[in-house]
Amino acid sequence: MSDKNAEFIIVGAGVVGLSIALGLLQKGHQVTILDGGDSDLSASKGNFGLIWLQAKGSHFAPYAKWTHKAVKKWPDFAKSLEELTQINLALEQTGGYEFFTDSNEFKAFQADLKQQQIHLGKKSSYEILTGDDLRKRYAGIGDKVVGATFCPLDGHVNPLKLFSALHSAVLTLGGKIFSNNKVKNITPLQGGGFKLLALNGNRFYSDRVILAAGLGTNSLAKQLDFVTQVRPQRGELLITEKIAERLPFVSSTIRQVNEGGIQIGGTSEEAGLDDSESLNVMVNLAQHAVSVYPQLSNVRVNRAWGALRILSPDGYPVYAQSHQYPGAYLVTCHSGITLASLHCSLLAEWIIDASNQSTLEAFSENRFSISSAA
Ligand SMILES: Cc1cc2nc3c(=O)[nH]c(=O)nc-3n(C[C@H](O)[C@H](O)[C@H](O)COP(=O)(O)OP(=O)(O)OC[C@H]3O[C@@H](n4cnc5c(N)ncnc54)[C@H](O)[C@@H]3O)c2cc1C
Repeated sequence: MSDKNAEFIIVGAGVVGLSIALGLLQKGHQVTILDGGDSDLSASKGNFGLIWLQAKGSHFAPYAKWTHKAVKKWPDFAKSLEELTQINLALEQTGGYEFFTDSNEFKAFQADLKQQQIHLGKKSSYEILTGDDLRKRYAGIGDKVVGATFCPLDGHVNPLKLFSALHSAVLTLGGKIFSNNKVKNITPLQGGGFKLLALNGNRFYSDRVILAAGLGTNSLAKQLDFVTQVRPQRGELLITEKIAERLPFVSSTIRQVNEGGIQIGGTSEEAGLDDSESLNVMVNLAQHAVSVYPQLSNVRVNRAWGALRILSPDGYPVYAQSHQYPGAYLVTCHSGITLASLHCSLLAEWIIDASNQSTLEAFSENRFSISSAA
């Protein structure tokens, strides 16, 4: 088989495309990945690195269950990826907090957790702490914190190490990655298979094609008769100088990366395709961090960036196969770090043989066709 004629072509070498590629390669399949360039938008290079369950899928049981499965699978996934690549992912899953400085937000979040618990039953547990409970646990927590929730399954990883480990694992197992080959057109061929034309004029052929192109998905999705369209949502982050002292907790907005810097984040902004950072948001982030943990006021911020999330119309993952063109798949999600452990296992198995995984039906794009017809 030549480089340009693959069994599977995956469009997009972000965390999602690479995780699926790894899963397919581990099952003995041949995989080529076509990717854009370094200047492309890339959520995989700008995210917060959380492996997070709290409140996910409160209003959509399949997502709560899928995320729960993903966080439980992370330790084995990390172990096998580390063994394959010798790259330390700095996985820590010792539980994580959501901190609140606003009582109404705290109450609303508790309702979401309660709802999530109904979906998960005894598989999962969480704690609710008042501000004073929390200050007893961690003396440095600020007076403005009115409460917190804690889930023992939550944690974090070094997302850039994950990205580079996936890349390295795919190459080690014989996958081929072609950067600077942004796909312009995908043509289904009579009798099966696909022809992909890159912007640089290169042509590739494959038996099956998987769209995992992040914010580059929309135009290609239409060519393969998918109805899913994704949209950007900006998140901004600060990163401090490295500090020797370890932060005693991991939270959804403040965490210490293994190299020592503290990452502060958690914003959600509708800013179109603009991934730049903005002063007022950075100020709010810094104020939030200092309210939660006042001793951070003495720590210098070194860097800030914005990055764009990839959201489906309802915010949940889409795992779809084309009805019109069998062999074409579309995969998109927010939380591609958390879900990497399943994208590399159950999702890859579903792509190989959909009859294996009826639970993934809930994530098909039928839900958008039904709502647009209604
Ligand atoms: C600020 C922020 C914080 C986040 N925090 C977390 C978190 O804590 N935990 C978590 O689980 N998730 C988090 N996420 C989400 C997570 O980062 C994403 O779900 C994940 O990175 C998406 O990966 P992807 O491969 O789908 O997309 P991307 O990383 O965007 O990759 C898409 C790739 O497709 C390529 N491409 C695009 N168009 C084409 C084309 N036409 N042809 C070929 N290639 C193409 C691009 O070059 C790019 O390499 C966060 C995201 C953001 C923005």
